[in-house]
Amino acid sequence: MYEDLKDKVVIITGGNSGIGKATSERFGKEGSKVVIGYLDHVEEAEKVVQTIKDAGSDAIAIKADVSIEEDIKNLIQQTHEKFGRIDVLINNAGFEKPIPTHEMSLAEWSKVIDINLTGAFIGSREVINYYLEHDIKGQIINTASVHDVIPWPNYVNYAASKGGLKLMMETMSMEYGKNGIRINNISPGAIVTEHTREKFSDPATREETLEMIPLNEIGEADQVANINVFLASEQASYIHGTTLYVDGGMTNYPAFMG
Ligand code: NAD
Repeated sequence: MYEDLKDKVVIITGGNSGIGKATSERFGKEGSKVVIGYLDHVEEAEKVVQTIKDAGSDAIAIKADVSIEEDIKNLIQQTHEKFGRIDVLINNAGFEKPIPTHEMSLAEWSKVIDINLTGAFIGSREVINYYLEHDIKGQIINTASVHDVIPWPNYVNYAASKGGLKLMMETMSMEYGKNGIRINNISPGAIVTEHTREKFSDPATREETLEMIPLNEIGEADQVANINVFLASEQASYIHGTTLYVDGGMTNYPAFMG
């Protein structure tokens, strides 16, 4: 438990599934006030809200497409109206679909860049303005990926988005550290979520994936959620402008491409 997270106001985009859901619920357990940004599946968002309320904290779900400026402005404004402040923004929403480069349409390229990179830019810019206006030493945590340093066939748009997210975060950390705004990334490796559980249950896929993970385990969403709360807490007060890899050592796998 991180006592200082109690009553902190935390926005998590894509907070109604996978890593975002685990992170929302974990902040709820810490007593934070949680804002779940969601694109669709409102019933899942409402379930997360209820879980957090049952744990004794407060939460709200707000529909927001991260690639639309007006949605993000509205997310920030509604959060302020409900809770009176914002302390942490977690740019977690993301999308991926493997496609060979020579077959990728511009629309397929742009969709991933718009959500994973531009979405995090819009969210960061808006919350930085909010922090500056209200003189809050707030935080931004982006969910990146091991793809920010590992090239992977058929993921050219995803790699560009997450690699861009790494340098975007590092650049912003140089600009706003002086304001006490801490900005970091978490880069997960292979993590089981509702969407990937079936894929990783397949013995061949599982074995192939495990070969790339020195710790010989596929991760769970809770293991990423744990690092989100740690980074947001005072325990991590001197961590700034960096990427924490939550990947069982995957980024050190020496002969990654075999
Ligand atoms: P997920 O599909 O369960 O979650 C992604 C969330 O983003 C969903 O709630 C989805 O609705 C939301 N989203 C997508 N487009 C959006 C948009 N335009 N606006 C708002 N929300 C939108 O998958 P996940 O695995 O939990 O992914 C969460 C983050 O973790 C993503 O950024 C992903 O790239 C990253 N990641 C996941 C893994 C993994 O193995 N699961 C590994 C590395 C990085």
